Amino acid sequence: MRVLERLDRLYAIGGGQGANRASGSPEEDEAYDLAAGWMREASLRVEIDPDGNLLGRSGTRDDVWVGSHLDSVPQGGRFDGSLGVVAAIEAVERESCGSVVVFRGEEVGCVGSRARVRRGDFPTAFLELHVEQGPVLDAADTPLGVVTGIVGYARGELVLEGRAGHAGTTPMEGREDALVAAAEAVLRVRDATRGLDGAVATVGKLDVEPGGVNVIPGRVRLSVDARAPDALTLDRLVAMIGFEPSQRNEPVTMNDACIGALCEEVSSRGLRVVEFPSGAGHDAGILAAAGVASGMLFVRSLNSGVSHSPDELTSDEDVAFAVDVLAGALGRLVSSR
Ligand SMILES: [Zn+2]
Repeated sequence: MRVLERLDRLYAIGGGQGANRASGSPEEDEAYDLAAGWMREASLRVEIDPDGNLLGRSGTRDDVWVGSHLDSVPQGGRFDGSLGVVAAIEAVERESCGSVVVFRGEEVGCVGSRARVRRGDFPTAFLELHVEQGPVLDAADTPLGVVTGIVGYARGELVLEGRAGHAGTTPMEGREDALVAAAEAVLRVRDATRGLDGAVATVGKLDVEPGGVNVIPGRVRLSVDARAPDALTLDRLVAMIGFEPSQRNEPVTMNDACIGALCEEVSSRGLRVVEFPSGAGHDAGILAAAGVASGMLFVRSLNSGVSHSPDELTSDEDVAFAVDVLAGALGRLVSSR
């Protein structure tokens, strides 16, 4: 299958262990050159915008875009981003409509799609195929999932104050140990998600002061990352945890027509339709937030959904299903708009 050969060629760039196409690196450029060549082979008109994003126009309904990104994390996987790009070239070529887009720097905060949106120059609709990077589809024993939205997140910190003291001479009674309080706070962060559908919350960092093995902790700062599929649930989660977010990214919902086109293509192949929100950010989320009718298709990740790792795996058969559904949905979307 041509899609698999192309994935191999992108993965081989730079050699070494895993994908190494950091944003702005010569390796990302090399991947762009390969993709631009494949676009020309498909008779697409290739453009590079002022922010470095690559666009291949078919000349028919160029306002409907399909694509993803080609940068990777260090030692990344074979499919993250790349699959969405090679599948998009395949879909646009098969359907003879729409445009392929490759956004710069997705792994470093979606810089390419954000820049494009800031310039106010975006499509009317966007479809993105991506590996799930999680275990949901594998557990559901089905190859494809339709994304309903992209969760929003709130990040900030909790600060616990105590009283530092000598670890040997201060009796247990009456201690004000900030790390013991922080331990309880970590459990509260976990428990706050109970009963909030789709909510997750994580403490990933603890700073303990003064940080001596023989000193009672006097002050602890802990990071909080809270995520939820809709704004109301995110508000509730933040209130339950009781922190002041220093950073907040609103949840976005995918467009009904895009969801519908993807669902129909999935079910017309006799596959069960599984719909769920994405816990990770994607370029489709940036475009959806800007008002572009957006849709995302997830394809099953094996190996417990591991991603950002050379162990990232999706079967050849699932890739083939995903490309067919993406192409079919593009055709449906173009004829319905
Ligand atoms: Zn990605």
